[in-house]
Amino acid sequence: MTKACVVIGAGMVGTSTAWHLRRRGHEVVLIDRGEPGQATSFGNAGLVQREAAEPYPFPREWAKIWQVATGQGFDIVWRASALPHVLTRVLAYAWHSRSDRHARLSRSYGALIAACITEHEALVRSAGAQDLIDTGGYRKIFRTAAAFERAAQDAERLARAWGIDNRVEDGAVLAQREPGLQQSLAGAIHHASTWSVLDPGALVQRYAADFLAQGGQFLRAEVQALQPKAQGWSLRTSQGLVQAHEVVVAQGPWSQDLLKPLEYRFPMFVKRGYHQHYEGAHRLKGPVFDAQKGYLLVPMRAGLRLTTGAELALRDAAPQPTQLAQAEACARALVTLGRPSALPAWMGSRPCMPDMLPVMGPAPRHRGLWFNFGHGHQGFTLGPVAGRLLAEMVSGEPGFLDPAPYAATRLAS
Ligand SMILES: Cc1cc2nc3c(=O)[nH]c(=O)nc-3n(C[C@H](O)[C@H](O)[C@H](O)COP(=O)(O)OP(=O)(O)OC[C@H]3O[C@@H](n4cnc5c(N)ncnc54)[C@H](O)[C@@H]3O)c2cc1C
Repeated sequence: MTKACVVIGAGMVGTSTAWHLRRRGHEVVLIDRGEPGQATSFGNAGLVQREAAEPYPFPREWAKIWQVATGQGFDIVWRASALPHVLTRVLAYAWHSRSDRHARLSRSYGALIAACITEHEALVRSAGAQDLIDTGGYRKIFRTAAAFERAAQDAERLARAWGIDNRVEDGAVLAQREPGLQQSLAGAIHHASTWSVLDPGALVQRYAADFLAQGGQFLRAEVQALQPKAQGWSLRTSQGLVQAHEVVVAQGPWSQDLLKPLEYRFPMFVKRGYHQHYEGAHRLKGPVFDAQKGYLLVPMRAGLRLTTGAELALRDAAPQPTQLAQAEACARALVTLGRPSALPAWMGSRPCMPDMLPVMGPAPRHRGLWFNFGHGHQGFTLGPVAGRLLAEMVSGEPGFLDPAPYAATRLAS
């Protein structure tokens, strides 16, 4: 049966959800206060991470925990002002990261990741966006032999468990494959089946344009409130009232904002991150993750994009330039970085759940309300998978994956 659907949030997750709903014949309005793909899905590292079958756990080695707690390093940093608000969530994250629980959660996470390339492929083909995709994979580089050895063992384990194309390269091979790296390194893992996107925001815009070409509608408006009605929903927006049978909340890190009045409280917290572009003759052939330092360098249309690791801070607190500055100093020794481009530095927030799984499915207490948020470190990767799963649920189709592990009821009632 055709339904009138509204999707709130035109990031990678919401746009892909709208695309899949429209494909199934529903009347769909995608709403965003900005243009599609201009928030978190704009500023990320643009990797479609086929290799990320297991979600990133809270650090498990005491030495690492001590390093983060005492503010050494810059891959994970934290702001004291955030602690009273996020401490219990972060402790729950640490608890879910215990190896037995993490192994169990990884089965549900890996099932989503396993579908990421096929699901992006369907949208890329339909949207004619092949020119934005680099299928050459990406490299995690290691500075010490011990870290490289551990990573190589883990890469082989993951390759066996999840059918991922991981290739181990020693220092000499790495130097040949990436001659732009100026330091002598122990080696790299080449994740050959991962994609990198040359302009992440533009990819979301192409998917959105394809959705419009198929008869979907886009409304540029701020959604201010959600009100359940006898039949469906009424949305108060900056452009007036909008009515719908079904409403999908896909607002990324803002997904809690409209749900509080409906008394849904999720233990979401954010890991913020930064990027800056550089205009140098860097000579990198593909993306490089400096694994022991915790930042990424990704060749993009706008220049070489440097993205940082995680900053535990309040979503709306003022940006702190230190993490980006430290990563930049480190990257300067690794490659010819050049000068920062005229594009401004960017900050965004990864929407994270303590159990590392996204929330995808029906609202526990309201008919016609659906959730699709909390995709953490891999929301850009998972958008089309999440969009398909949610559209199947709204349409009453059997899901291509069992949606039970991602249900909202595990975190909120
Ligand atoms: C530094 C960094 C690097 C990253 N690298 C990667 C990567 O390489 N690969 C990967 O898979 N993931 C990566 N991520 C994570 C990824 O970017 C996010 O998980 C993903 O973009 C979330 O997508 P989304 O659609 O849920 O949210 P968003 O892209 O934030 O979209 C939410 C949308 O909702 C809109 N909105 C919010 N509230 C309202 C309202 N009231 N009314 C109207 N509109 C509203 C916003 O304007 C926004 O457009 C990275 C994140 C960061 C910060």
